[in-house]
Amino acid sequence: MTAKTATYRNYVGGAFLDEGTPFDSINPANGERAAVVYAADQDIVYRAVASAKAALDGPWAKMPVQERLSYLHKLADGIEARFDDFVAAEIADTGKPASQARNLDIPRGAANFRAFADLLKGASTECFEMDTPDGAGAINYAVRKPVGVVAVIAPWNLPMLLMTWKLAPALACGNTVVAKPSEETPGTATLLAEVAHDIGLPPGVLNILHGFGPDATGEFLVNHPDVDAITFTGESRTGTAIMQGAARGVKPVSFELGGKNAAVVFADADFDAAVDGVARSTFTNCGQVCLCSERVYVERPIFDRFVAALKQKAEELIAGDPFDETTNFSPLISHGHRDKVLSYYALARDEGATVVTGGGVPQFGDKRDQGAYVEPTVLTGLPQTARVMREEIFGPVCHVMPFDAEDEAVRLANDSDYGLAAAVWTTNLSRAHRVARQMDVGIAWVNTWFLRDLRTPFGGMKLSGIGREGGLHSLHFYSEPTNICIKL
Ligand code: NAD
Repeated sequence: MTAKTATYRNYVGGAFLDEGTPFDSINPANGERAAVVYAADQDIVYRAVASAKAALDGPWAKMPVQERLSYLHKLADGIEARFDDFVAAEIADTGKPASQARNLDIPRGAANFRAFADLLKGASTECFEMDTPDGAGAINYAVRKPVGVVAVIAPWNLPMLLMTWKLAPALACGNTVVAKPSEETPGTATLLAEVAHDIGLPPGVLNILHGFGPDATGEFLVNHPDVDAITFTGESRTGTAIMQGAARGVKPVSFELGGKNAAVVFADADFDAAVDGVARSTFTNCGQVCLCSERVYVERPIFDRFVAALKQKAEELIAGDPFDETTNFSPLISHGHRDKVLSYYALARDEGATVVTGGGVPQFGDKRDQGAYVEPTVLTGLPQTARVMREEIFGPVCHVMPFDAEDEAVRLANDSDYGLAAAVWTTNLSRAHRVARQMDVGIAWVNTWFLRDLRTPFGGMKLSGIGREGGLHSLHFYSEPTNICIKL
């Protein structure tokens, strides 16, 4: 379970710096130090932005598109060549099961680079012919230019997957990047900098900075006047703070923020598939996926049976050594986050919930007791107005509530300040279409969860975000179109 202590440095202008303020990164599976990390101070942040700006004005902008895109494929090749290193670094930072890191997080990192390289290669721009009073006409066509220096700020829950989801389209569109992984998960971003270095990505095109957010590395970066656009994944209130700074420079922002997602299970659903699906959408990554279901609405005739089956699924989860292939449940990211999740477990009791299963801290009798584990938890009995029903917990917990009618289920699901994702479980085809399109969310799944096609729009409504990324939506955010109008 214990990996050796790594050292993670800032990567600026094509070099790893022996500077910064060291801090410890803790392995949440056992409480041990996983790495020493060097936080970038303001001077390092400013040097990173300057190097990104110089690279933008230098070889990167002038490079033929095919050559630029070949670097993205080389980054993907480099991730695949060091696959086990990436897996180990992701596990040391997060404690997540190896099966998940191997099958999801790291492969998606490589896939993001390939997908956006291929997308840009085939992407066209707009062309419009127009009439003019003299009868000769005019043609308009758009050319796509980079936005400039892009700041990428990533969270800790799916570190590699979510950072590359933004890096790949930003680089494909010809921007240069200064990226900051979460202070909780510095590992895979540093390995990516090593891959970039080894494949000869021109200095300054990709800079990786470590450090904290408020009044620190993250804030210095997003508020830098030479940052031209900000793409951020994280908490909604962090989005508010970043937006206040971005407003000063009227900078474009793309925000993928929090969720309080609903799953709606109709009595006509494939029962076993729905139980499996809701167990997955509640407990995957210890509930630390923005898309996880924290509110589950179940049609009354199957309510009791569903709650009992979900309880059984929760109790069957295996919180073993992350490297053990049978392990399918992980610790939370940190002891600090565990305090937050446990405070919601206590609040649920105070608000009158019935704790169907879980609600506490498991005892293992080994090193895992120094980790940040909590029990997978199923709640019932709360009103829709309870704080536990309204605030994002970001842990392995859901509340299950019965409903009697389709329109009631839709109303309850949409009764949230957030609007990221929903999952609908039904075998009635008309109902599937009807209910899915009524969900006020960026993505509504039917009879599945977390199935993603990288060409499709991804983002959230209400407190869950601003804008969409994915496919052409990413190209729109990461490029500036100039319309050229030619009078014939
Ligand atoms: P967070 O907002 O605390 O931190 C995210 C990143 O922002 C970190 O790198 C942090 O250092 C940085 N940061 C914090 N304050 C900053 C500031 N003032 N200026 C600049 N940078 C700052 O989020 P987190 O706890 O790392 O991640 C969990 C949250 O992310 C949850 O709310 C989850 O729902 C959300 N999330 C959303 C999506 C999505 O696609 N919508 C995906 C994953 C996670």
